[in-house]
Amino acid sequence: MSKIAVVPGSFDPLTNGHLDIIKRAARVFDEVNVVVMNNSAKNSLFTAEERIELIRVVTASIPNVKVEASAGLMIDYAKSIGATAVVRGLRAVTDFEYEMQITSMNRVLDESIETFFIMTNNQYSFLSSSIVKEVAKYGGAISELVPKQVEEALKKKFEA
Ligand code: ADP
Repeated sequence: MSKIAVVPGSFDPLTNGHLDIIKRAARVFDEVNVVVMNNSAKNSLFTAEERIELIRVVTASIPNVKVEASAGLMIDYAKSIGATAVVRGLRAVTDFEYEMQITSMNRVLDESIETFFIMTNNQYSFLSSSIVKEVAKYGGAISELVPKQVEEALKKKFEA
């Protein structure tokens, strides 16, 4: 039976930190479904379609990675595709409390789906979509922080 994992997130937009987690999950699981969650209270810069397209282009060379959107409960999405695992990235201790809450809630909703955490690569431990957007907005250099396609998309957004 192939092991399917879900990597959920806002990805507004994808950063090198996200990409690192996706690549590492793809080495461990047979199939990795990156799911762009589109129901949070967060005001997003990119539409769900734009976020998906960017992740698709950037991960095109990884054969076992798929990208989709979901507007419902992440755990329902995971069940619907037969996933047995959820993979999240952990940066600093500040991520811990939030992740603990979500993981506990997801376990209440379905205890058969296990959540795994991948520790960030040191070089990405302070990297977030919000920081990237802030720097890009004021024309700062972000080429080390995001894939090229994301850098271009951000430039376009802030030019408009
Ligand atoms: P969410 O709104 O669900 O937190 P994000 O897009 O911010 O969505 O993050 C998606 C996942 O990627 C989360 O598990 C988050 O902890 C992880 N992540 C974000 N940035 C990094 C990074 N720089 N290094 C490792 N993991 C990260």
